[in-house]
Amino acid sequence: MKHSMAIEEIAASGEFRHLSTIAHIAVDLRYASPDNFVGRDLYSPHDCAWLHIDAAAALESVVAWLAARQPSYRILVLDALRPQRVQQLLWDALEGTDLQMYLASPERGSIHSFGMALDLTILDENGRELDMGTGFDDLTERSHPALEAVLLERGEISLTQIANRQLLRDAMAQAGFHGISTEWWHYDCGDRNLVREKYWRIL
Ligand SMILES: [Zn+2]
Repeated sequence: MKHSMAIEEIAASGEFRHLSTIAHIAVDLRYASPDNFVGRDLYSPHDCAWLHIDAAAALESVVAWLAARQPSYRILVLDALRPQRVQQLLWDALEGTDLQMYLASPERGSIHSFGMALDLTILDENGRELDMGTGFDDLTERSHPALEAVLLERGEISLTQIANRQLLRDAMAQAGFHGISTEWWHYDCGDRNLVREKYWRIL
């Protein structure tokens, strides 16, 4: 491991920005509540509402892009910085199930642990999550962006749901975020290999 920093140190480091400094977003960190697949708050007592400054700037570009196209919509951040210790807890929680494919192994490390990944969705004019076909952390094939054409054919996803995901994809792509094939809500900022090589991993 090249560079690592404890979560307790990030506020003073100057390399991270608190989500409260990003205007016009809503934040509901699901791992900081019992509303997640483990069923308990995994972040307390740590404040994990942080992003690396590069990812924070990119998120601001997403917000501006969305405001120009759908001013009544808002970004809802579901997860941002996820310390390595929490990644380990999640990994252990899925031990022995075929759901471990949804997680980066603790040795390799999640891009979330560098503050360079985001889980997010979009809220409509009434503050409700857009219908993306599944909820956050629905670890089934219905969440896989790579399978949308097949799911559409099977009647398991609608054109509206795909269009809602596409709006998020377009907003993220123009800011330099990259999606993954298995989770519609997950985006990495920039090049994953570069992040693992150059950025601070938060323990
Ligand atoms: Zn994620």
